[in-house]
Amino acid sequence: MISRDPAAAALERHDLIVIGGGAYGIMLTLEAARRGLRPLLVERADFGGATSWNSLRIVHGGLRYLQTLDLTRLRQSVQERSWFLRAFPDQVRPLDCLMPLYGDGLKRPGALRVALAATDLMTSGRNRSLDAAHQIGRGAVLGAAETVRHFEMVPRDGLRGAALWQDAVMADSQRLLIESLRWATSAGAAALNYTDAFALLVAGDRVTGIAARDRISGDEFELRAPVVVNCGGPWSASLAARFDQPLPRLFRPSLALNLFLDRAPLAYEALAVAPRRPGARMCFMYPWKGGVLAGTWHAPWADATRDDPGAVEAAVAAMLRELNDAVPGWSVARSDVVRVHWGLLPARAPGTADLATRPVLHDHGGAGGPDGLYSASGVKFTTARRVGAALLGHIARRRQLPSLGLPRARRPEPVTPPDADAMIALATRNRPAAAAWVRQLAVEESVCHVDDLLLRRTDWGVHPLRAGVLGPLVAELFRPLRVSGSVEAVP
Ligand SMILES: Cc1cc2nc3c(=O)[nH]c(=O)nc-3n(C[C@H](O)[C@H](O)[C@H](O)COP(=O)(O)OP(=O)(O)OC[C@H]3O[C@@H](n4cnc5c(N)ncnc54)[C@H](O)[C@@H]3O)c2cc1C
Repeated sequence: MISRDPAAAALERHDLIVIGGGAYGIMLTLEAARRGLRPLLVERADFGGATSWNSLRIVHGGLRYLQTLDLTRLRQSVQERSWFLRAFPDQVRPLDCLMPLYGDGLKRPGALRVALAATDLMTSGRNRSLDAAHQIGRGAVLGAAETVRHFEMVPRDGLRGAALWQDAVMADSQRLLIESLRWATSAGAAALNYTDAFALLVAGDRVTGIAARDRISGDEFELRAPVVVNCGGPWSASLAARFDQPLPRLFRPSLALNLFLDRAPLAYEALAVAPRRPGARMCFMYPWKGGVLAGTWHAPWADATRDDPGAVEAAVAAMLRELNDAVPGWSVARSDVVRVHWGLLPARAPGTADLATRPVLHDHGGAGGPDGLYSASGVKFTTARRVGAALLGHIARRRQLPSLGLPRARRPEPVTPPDADAMIALATRNRPAAAAWVRQLAVEESVCHVDDLLLRRTDWGVHPLRAGVLGPLVAELFRPLRVSGSVEAVP
């Protein structure tokens, strides 16, 4: 149960306060609670509603890191993928991926055969403690004729086959984050959405907590903990500057976007496709919620871009051009795009689209700033838990946290709301049962607005067509539950 109780949170002394309820803040909160700490998470808007809502939802095994021989990153990604498959079997599943091969450079069949075999060998422990349905199979290289059977529209000129391997995908990244929070709160964490952390509290040079504003009631209050961790994602650098001093290396923004296309999938598998010219970018696309989710497109993001409403639209146009070059004849158009998922990710250098290759963990106290303040940023949802665990280890070694236990708390039984189509059917057949779902999620999962329910507790509002049906219905069922800013269970 995620209960939003600012007054109770203000009365307690927490072990640590985590600012930012995206993947990084939520995974850190979960890791802390599983190890016996009492963390408090504060999120300015809704949990998982910023960058984390826009991810392509792939839990990367990191095959591509083989290209740069970054074997450490590959192994770490595979370990995290296995963790997600084990911890969230209801939310994460293996995904078949297919990449057509034309015999150029590292993407020729022979090279891919070796790469897939090497990955299988290096990650031979990947399926430990996983049931059969969640095991990641071995990769293979298909011949050209078989490739065409899988992907009929594949450009055939020079086609030599395809690499076929398995990665993992989240059914609903937003539901996975809420499930993580349910787990964290069952193990002793507290979490407040719609709560803005606007100032750091210090006594001498020691952190004592934060000042926060409840964005529902407008009240301001103080929250107490000896450790504060800034997991503000794209806002982390400005938070660091406000609480300590400018720290540009924490987050140099670059634009990343995915397109949700109202088109029939081109294959059962996820496809990795690129136009056939040197330096062309690879796009991934897979069947999702009745359409196709395609991405990820990257572009530089400068300060000036922030004020240019056309910047995202220009990237959408560029990505559509690239998709059409990669699959001639598919003719995907702007009118096929039902949702643009975009966000900012840390770049390696200012003004570039090259993503940072490592997370940044900053100990402000260790660098002469407020003692007990930490900042973290990272590039992947997949590795957020690992970054959180590493940071906790560092803080514990600094003796600013009670001793860390081994991760223990068991995950509570998952809650699996009906998907959008099932909810439409349920509401038609049995309205009280549909109302009961709305009530349960609203009461147990800190729902403050209808959009929280439609987009971040369920997938009911993800596809605009289904949102058109479910939006008004859910709003009608939700309205009586919302009493003076808080949600109350009505009989
Ligand atoms: C288009 C796209 C595709 C991607 N695809 C993948 C993928 O397939 N696989 C993968 O592993 N990763 C992917 N990623 C990367 C992944 O989504 C991010 O690394 C991750 O979501 C970042 O999480 P975060 O918690 O750092 O940031 P966010 O999710 O942005 O969370 C930061 C939070 O901090 C809050 N906040 C800021 N200031 C305050 C304050 N003062 N008080 C309270 N709260 C505050 C914000 O409201 C926000 O919710 C993708 C990203 C994008 C944009």
